[in-house]
Amino acid sequence: MGAYSEEQIKKVCHNVIENLANVMDTPEWQDMSINVAAAVTMALNADKEAALKEELVNVSRNLYYQGFFAGTSGNISARLSSERLMITPSGVSKLKLAPQQIVVTDSDGNYISGDGSPSSEIKMHLAIYRKRADVNAVVHAHPPFTTGFAAAGLPLDQPVLPEAILVLGRIPIVEYGTPSTRELPEALEPYMKDHNAFLLANHGALTIGSDIVQAAHRIETMELFAKVILIARMLGGEKLLTEDQLKKLANIK
Ligand SMILES: [Zn+2]
Repeated sequence: MGAYSEEQIKKVCHNVIENLANVMDTPEWQDMSINVAAAVTMALNADKEAALKEELVNVSRNLYYQGFFAGTSGNISARLSSERLMITPSGVSKLKLAPQQIVVTDSDGNYISGDGSPSSEIKMHLAIYRKRADVNAVVHAHPPFTTGFAAAGLPLDQPVLPEAILVLGRIPIVEYGTPSTRELPEALEPYMKDHNAFLLANHGALTIGSDIVQAAHRIETMELFAKVILIARMLGGEKLLTEDQLKKLANIK
C-alpha cells in the first residue's frame, strides 16, 4: 500500500464515500457505497495477510538457521484479526516453508485456507490468543540450550542479565503435557496471564508477543540466556544482580 497507512487509506475511502453519498442520495448509491466499502476492506485485509505471511516465512527461516527448528518441529502463529489467525503447517520444514503453505483458520482453529493442515500444537496457540488480547504472535520451538534446562527441570528465573529481565521477565516452568493434546494448554493456563516466555518441561520453549518480531526476539533472548547461564555454571556459577541493581532496572522499564 505504498507510503500510506491502513488508517489513512480507510479515512480517505470513508470521506469519498460520504461525500458522494451526500450528492447522490439514492438507495442504489447507498447499496453501491456499502459494496465499495466492503471491497476496500477486503483488499486491505488481503494485503495485511500477504505481508504477515511473508514476515512469518522470514522469521521461520531465521530461527531455523539458529537451530531452533530441527526437522519439521516447532510452530509459529500470528493473529490477523479478532476472527482470523495464521499458523505454520504440520510436517513442513521451516527452511522450506512457502507463504501459500501457511494455514489461515478462524478463531476456533477451523481451516479457512492454505496448502496444508494446521500445526498439531494449534490448541496451545488458540488458548493463548483467547486469554491474552495483547498477544498477536506465538512461537514454539526446541532451542537446544533452553530445552536442556526444560529437560533437566531447571528454571531460568534468576536475575542475572538485565536484558533478559527487561525482554523476558520471569520464565516459569510449565508442567509436562502430552504434545498436541489439551494437556499442554491446560498446564499453561495458570501462567499465561503474567508471563511472556515459558519453559515447557521435558519439551521446549514458548514465547509470545505483540507481533511476530517481538515473539521471535524473546525466544532468541531466552536461548542466549540459557546458554550464558550454562557457561556461567561451568565457570563457577552465576552472580545474581543485587536488590539495589534490580530497583534501578525497574525504574528504566
Ligand atoms: Zn514442541
